[in-house]
Amino acid sequence: MVLYPSFLIAFLFGIVVGSFLNVAILRIPQPDQSVVYPPSHCPECQTPLKWYDNIPLLSFIILRRKCRYCQCPISWQYPLIELAMGLFSLALLHSFPFPWPFIGFFLFTAALLVIIVIDFKHQLIPDIISLPGIILGFAFSFLNPSLSWSDSGLGILFGGGILFLIAYGYYFFTKRVGMGGGDIKLLAMIGAFLGYQSLPFVIFSSSLLGTVAGIWAMSKQKKGGQTVISYGPFLAAGALIYLFFEPQIQFYLRSLLLPA
Ligand SMILES: [Zn+2]
Repeated sequence: MVLYPSFLIAFLFGIVVGSFLNVAILRIPQPDQSVVYPPSHCPECQTPLKWYDNIPLLSFIILRRKCRYCQCPISWQYPLIELAMGLFSLALLHSFPFPWPFIGFFLFTAALLVIIVIDFKHQLIPDIISLPGIILGFAFSFLNPSLSWSDSGLGILFGGGILFLIAYGYYFFTKRVGMGGGDIKLLAMIGAFLGYQSLPFVIFSSSLLGTVAGIWAMSKQKKGGQTVISYGPFLAAGALIYLFFEPQIQFYLRSLLLPA
């Protein structure tokens, strides 16, 4: 395999951004903390980190999973997010033209990655990501030749609307809140970036993934019924699958719906 310099740069850029996403994941759920200040410090002993303790992927390996100062283990989350963003960046450069489609979907995958981890850990999708994401996704449709602004606008309307109806119906029949407003804003953001055409697949695949995960969680818990699992990470996963496999998915959907 020939390693083109642009792909190497895309990968390195991805892991550097991934390291910033780790900070965002840590600090966004705590509203009194800024994402840029104070500089990174060990979450256990609070010692500020030197630049050489903070090199994406490398420091984790060199330090052998331990803080240099207090020897506390460093979470696997850090290198995994860095690696994931590096690989997404590579895959995006491979699949989408540079600059605008690449830049737009780079921001989109970064936002989804942060949402997946925060929602999984805190059962919360921060408005500070999803609301600007809706606007950004719509603005981006003017720079993305493969998505019209009307497809993006309908994506926002249907994405927000469909989940709102489902959430309202669920509440109406069960008098319990099954889905948060965060999921509704997230699906509107997904519709803004991927167009309304993506919504049936994103809803279907995320429900399927969520059901499998829910059954697994209930079997582990052995009580049944009321297990709380966030839906957001599955919506985000469905959107990522659609982003990278849209031609294949549309091909299969068409042959399913319109048999020759
Ligand atoms: Zn420490």
